[in-house]
Formats: sequence, structure tokens, C-alpha cells
Amino acid sequence: MNIIQTENLSKYFGAVKAVDQVSIHVKQGEIYGFLGLNGAGKTTLIRLLLGLIKPDTGTCMLFGKHPKQANKIWNNVGYLIETPHAYPRLSVRENLQLICKLRGFDDHRLINEITDRLNLGEYVHTKEENLSMGNKQRLGLAKALIHRPKLLLLDEPINGLDPAGIVEIRELLQELSEQQGTTIFLSSHILSEIARLTSRIGIIHKGALVKEIKSADLDEQIIMRLHIKTTNNPGAIEVLTDKGFQAQLANDLIEVSDSHAIDQPETISRLLVEQGLPPKLIWVFEEDLEHYFLRIIKA
Ligand code: ATP
Repeated sequence: MNIIQTENLSKYFGAVKAVDQVSIHVKQGEIYGFLGLNGAGKTTLIRLLLGLIKPDTGTCMLFGKHPKQANKIWNNVGYLIETPHAYPRLSVRENLQLICKLRGFDDHRLINEITDRLNLGEYVHTKEENLSMGNKQRLGLAKALIHRPKLLLLDEPINGLDPAGIVEIRELLQELSEQQGTTIFLSSHILSEIARLTSRIGIIHKGALVKEIKSADLDEQIIMRLHIKTTNNPGAIEVLTDKGFQAQLANDLIEVSDSHAIDQPETISRLLVEQGLPPKLIWVFEEDLEHYFLRIIKA
């Protein structure tokens, strides 16, 4: 069963298509990353999934049910939307006690467990307003996780975390997905982070889902080229094209796109040396993930 299923889901604010005909299917235990620039529609989609706003068209279901029909599903959902709101004058522990009461249980062991897991142990008596930004984010995550939900909807969960915090949260979410089968839907605008954390990525641009890709397949999508510089680039291009390679001038570089050349630059180097055109520089260029993302949304 799909834990999250949307079909042609749309939400418009006046002329702005915040979410435009989005169909997404997320299976149990999957970590699905929703990637987009600022204003792409990520938060609006999460608000739709949580039933906080009504779609203009299309449907959205969690655990096979429409959010409106299914009061019981909310016990199985944890969420963090944009800024993690908490009561600033209450301590970390008090904030967590309150969320437990609101969720209808009172179990100090769960509070201890989650504060330990999120490294908030030494701050349990600190007022929320005195926490660092990263620790406010941890408290937001603690509130989302404390009742051990089966589905987590997290809007920019790594916002404000330092590199160690990012690794910690990544490991925690991966553990939840692998060991407890928790389904996680998270948004971000940082592809490199999302690629490490998720099993599948949906790229959203101007409200529309422009691409879905398995994180494991990302490497195959990245553009690779062999770049060469010689003292006579036009002459070197002639040599390479005579041998059947796809070579062209790009600024003051020769760009070769054949995978055979990229895999064996030494063969190309030897060929050019034999023709009296030794390379001054030769290296394999690999597109980075940010450029890949920009290329996809520009397409
Ligand atoms: P960010 O990464 O900056 O949080 P986002 O991808 O979460 O952005 P949304 O907040 O979903 O984007 O916004 C999508 C579009 O919808 C934006 O153009 C935004 O201005 C518009 N929008 C969102 N909520 C409303 C609203 N309540 N009224 C009018 N326009 C809105």
C-alpha cells in the first residue's frame, strides 16, 4: 500500500500555481525527498498532505485514506513545518510534556528517550527561547518523533543544523526507516544532502513535479566530460574526430563526451602525444549535483 498517494493534486493562490497536478506515490519505509527552489511549492504540498489546506483539484491520501475522513491517522503522523514552533518560555522538557499531553499520553520514558536520541539531554531544563537555532530544530524534530509515528512529514528538517547535526539527523532518519519501517517525506532545497538521505527524489519547480529519480541512479544522470588543453586545440580536435571521438571546442578547452574516452583518458593522452600534440592538461569533469538540479529545472 502507498502510505502517501496524491493524484493530480493542485493548489492555486490567485494566479500562482503553488502545487500543479502533482502525483506522488510513496511506499512504506521509503525516504522520499522533495526538492525545489524557494517558492517551488514544497511547504504547500506538505500542508495539503496534512489536510491544513484544501486542494483546488486532485486527491491526496495518507494510509489509503483521505485526511478529512480519517481522524485516527494523525496518531501515526509526525510533522515539522518550516519554523519549529514551541513555547519560548517553557523548557525543552515542558514543551515535550505538553505535546505528549496533547497527543493523549504521559510517558516520561519517551521524553528521555527522544531527548537522548537527539542529543538534547543537557538542555532539557533550558527554555526554548535560549536554545541555539540547531537545538530549536532538534526540539521540533523531537516533537515530531516522540509518539513514534509511522509517517513523518518534515519540511526542511536539516535547516539550521551544523554538519555534525546533519549527519546525526541523517543517521536517525535512516535508522527509523530501516529498523522501524517509518515512511519519511521530507523537503529540502539542498540536493547533495537529500541525495545522501533519501531513496527517491522528486524535483518540484513552479508547483509541478518535473522529475522523479532513485537516489542510487543519480550518478548515471550526472554529465561527465573529458577536458583537454593543448597548444593547438583545433589540431587536436581534428586528430580526435579522425579517430571517431566526439570532440568540440568549449572556450579554450576541448570537450570529449565519449564514455570510452572518459573511462580511459590515458588512451587519449597517448594518441595526442603520438601526433605531436601532448596535452598540457587533461582531466575528467563531473557535473556537481547543484548544476544537475539547475539543468533539470531549466529543461
Ligand atoms: P521555501 O523553500 O521558500 O519555503 P516552498 O517550496 O516551500 O518555498 P511554498 O511556500 O509552498 O514554497 O510556496 C509556493 C508558492 O505559493 C510561492 O509562490 C508562495 O508565494 C505561494 N504561496 C504559498 N502560500 C501562500 C498563501 N497562503 N497565499 C498566497 N500565496 C501563497
